[in-house]
Amino acid sequence: MRDTDGMAALGQQGRPVDEVIAELTDKRSGDVKWSDGKTFGMVYDGGPSVHEVAEQAARLYLHENALNTQAFPSLRQIQSDVVGWTADLLNGDENTAGFLTSGGTESILCGVLAARKRGLAERNITEPEMVLSESAHAAFHKAADNFGLTVHKAPVREDYTANVEAMASMVNDNTVLVVGSAPQYPQGVQDDIPSIAALAKSVGANCHVDACMGGFVLPFAERIGRDVLPWDFRVDGVTTISADIHKLGYAPKGVSVILHNTKESRKYQTFVFDDWLGGFYASPNMQGTRSGLPMACAWAVMQHLGVDGYIDLTQQTLVNADLMRAGIMAVDGVRVLGEGQFHLVAMAAEPDSGIDMFALGDALLERGWYHDRQTPPDNLHSTVSNTNTGVIDQYLVDLSECVATAGTTDDRSTTYATLE
Ligand SMILES: *Cc1c(COP(=O)(O)O)cnc(C)c1O
Repeated sequence: MRDTDGMAALGQQGRPVDEVIAELTDKRSGDVKWSDGKTFGMVYDGGPSVHEVAEQAARLYLHENALNTQAFPSLRQIQSDVVGWTADLLNGDENTAGFLTSGGTESILCGVLAARKRGLAERNITEPEMVLSESAHAAFHKAADNFGLTVHKAPVREDYTANVEAMASMVNDNTVLVVGSAPQYPQGVQDDIPSIAALAKSVGANCHVDACMGGFVLPFAERIGRDVLPWDFRVDGVTTISADIHKLGYAPKGVSVILHNTKESRKYQTFVFDDWLGGFYASPNMQGTRSGLPMACAWAVMQHLGVDGYIDLTQQTLVNADLMRAGIMAVDGVRVLGEGQFHLVAMAAEPDSGIDMFALGDALLERGWYHDRQTPPDNLHSTVSNTNTGVIDQYLVDLSECVATAGTTDDRSTTYATLE
């Protein structure tokens, strides 16, 4: 027998349904308790009726396969509806076209691939390059790594937005893609998309706007009268946009939208093949077999919420984030990085306080508050959403108590020294 190195082999005999489910339920006991609102990110809770409609849709589409929409015409329609609604929210026109993908990363992979293929087909670029800001999501680097593009990465400005002049110095005849974020993930600030799109257009490159976070926030923030700088298909030169329904679109995990400004652009991301023994094969994104479940859930959640439902959730989300930002600024020793206007908050130490932010993160976690950690500088990241409604006041109380007792980075070097 194979040495399983601590891993058990699958049991010879199957187990009863109840027993299997009981063990799975038990396994979850150590996971974050997102439903109490104390997790800032990863799970986005639209409320009980949103769960209900998603769970019922999931049950209907648990087994369906969207690889073949001839067999499942309902999934073709579902995809076309969701893509169409998203294009409309993002101010596309009758030429706007897109697909559903499994998430933001896949949407970005599709956007980068389309840019590379367009560069080869229309400009004969065989050594493709892309230009982005150091705030752009890691998924762009993954795409460059997978598809063989050279990345030019510009430092951010002091306010954490993309430094478009620095990016301009990196654009050349091999540039197939220039990237902007609306907003970017690390500090939640929005790049100057019109300048980035103009830069891309000046060399005939694609401009991808990463609205994985903002795609289902900014359209509604604009409707409730918040200041939203131009970022969507109203901006000349924007060729592709990624928007995640499984984030602030409040659908369960596994669904995002990639939109192209034209159907010709969309063609560059699809793969069509008719030269193997398995017959005609067409695939719009990175997947082969594609679960119908997340697509149906997205359809159901969007139909259930409607624009008004999203406006309500966005209103609460932005109020939560504003409260959090104001509360953090009021605590001595910590500060908010950048001037984000939306739902992402990065909290760092005041430069002279010496507070060990990751020790602070541990102390908050002991009280149930979960943040992602990022650096530089060491900071705690929050994706605020409707999930956190009603808990921010308590969070701020816990935060000031934890800051008061948090160690400094000097303590941390001592700990590291002891560990060695
Ligand atoms: C989450 C996110 C991504 C990646 O999306 P996944 O769904 O995690 O694959 C890309 N860009 C931004 C700005 C994001 O917030």
